[in-house]
Amino acid sequence: MNSPHSNASPAQPRRVERLVRGVATSDGAGVKLTRVLTQDLQRRLDPFLMLDAFRNENPQDYIGGFPNHPHRGFETVTYMIAGRMRHHDSAGNHGLLGPGGVQWMTAGSGLIHSELPEQQEGLMEGFQLWLNLPAARKMTPPSYRDIPAASIPEYVDGDGVRVRVIAGEHRHIRGAVQRPDTEPLLLDVHIPAGGRFQQTLAPGYNAFTYTYRGSIAIAGTEVPDRHMAILGNAGDGVAVEAAQDSRFLLIAGRPLAEPIVQHGPFVMNTPEQIHQAVRDYQAGRFSAVSVQSL
Ligand code: FE
Repeated sequence: MNSPHSNASPAQPRRVERLVRGVATSDGAGVKLTRVLTQDLQRRLDPFLMLDAFRNENPQDYIGGFPNHPHRGFETVTYMIAGRMRHHDSAGNHGLLGPGGVQWMTAGSGLIHSELPEQQEGLMEGFQLWLNLPAARKMTPPSYRDIPAASIPEYVDGDGVRVRVIAGEHRHIRGAVQRPDTEPLLLDVHIPAGGRFQQTLAPGYNAFTYTYRGSIAIAGTEVPDRHMAILGNAGDGVAVEAAQDSRFLLIAGRPLAEPIVQHGPFVMNTPEQIHQAVRDYQAGRFSAVSVQSL
């Protein structure tokens, strides 16, 4: 089967439409983070709803973590670069997310969970991406999968460019996760100084990058550390160069083109569905569900 993201060389690379710095904020119990993909970009970057980046050396800025909270209607993808986070959910499941590991959680009809730092000191760095579910699958039973670093496929080329394939496909290497509804691509790319990277992207799929080390150049536009580049939709892929050792995420997916109504941790299609989510949560109906392995 032909994957929309399988080959390497685009004939007509996409250009940078806009650079975004994100908004410094805190969430959970005082975790300092940068909200890179904010609510006003949800329509433009459909099917992605949020991207948070956190990189904190000071325990005061992360130690409170994210105590018990609900989710309904979408998926959360947590990717750790440094540090450890333990998660618990309302069904009694728990897992430990370490450096290079991913938790892919389908909140679906709803669950309550906590995400708490396991360490008392040192660097805590990572990302959380929210991926929408189609209307028909928003009330699917919740599930999750912990993917340790060693289980994420990697491609390393002759120039030392290293691509961790978390979701989707790169150069015929299938990622750890495939999702049929939106066919998300999630790559963590390391380019050594002077290296280049290419990836084809399906037409119409929304795509963006986030630089978290060094600085990259996309079709002549510099995308510095801690900046997101929204890619224009014209073109069949992306070509990236780096003058210095750099790391970035490349994220793309098929838009759902459905109404998006968000109230905090609930993302549905109509206000009535949001009211129902609040009622169900207040009535304790989220804590009674079982959560399966994905
Ligand atoms: Fe959460």
